[in-house]
Amino acid sequence: MSRVDRSSRHHPPEVSPSSRLAGFEEVVGVLTEARARAEAERCMICGQCGKCRSCVELFGCPAFYLKDRRIHIDSELCVGCGVCAEFCPNGAIEPRVVSSGAELSTLDSRS
Ligand code: SF4
Ligand code: SF4
Repeated sequence: MSRVDRSSRHHPPEVSPSSRLAGFEEVVGVLTEARARAEAERCMICGQCGKCRSCVELFGCPAFYLKDRRIHIDSELCVGCGVCAEFCPNGAIEPRVVSSGAELSTLDSRS
């Protein structure tokens, strides 16, 4: 269920080495809008956008699950260790005290 896009990186055009000798043209060009958008859509799960799903796809705790396009923590499986809160690159997981003890919950709107 990985959503990592393994397509190749879009590189900007470059002036050929022989042409570089002929003038002062900028060596590295720019991506077209379409290619820039395609490059931006390649997900590398860096965790910076707040929808990285690293906790589900990389972290490995069985308490995490996806439902209705949202990430949840199964309170039956969570032992309240707090490691996921340390792991989340966006600080979107925070401890929450419940009657039966401590559990952690994802902050809903960002993930
Ligand atoms: S809770 Fe944290 S690790 Fe999980 S998807 Fe959201 S930002 Fe990523
Ligand atoms: S606190 Fe986080 S890492 Fe620890 S068991 Fe619960 S969900 Fe998993």
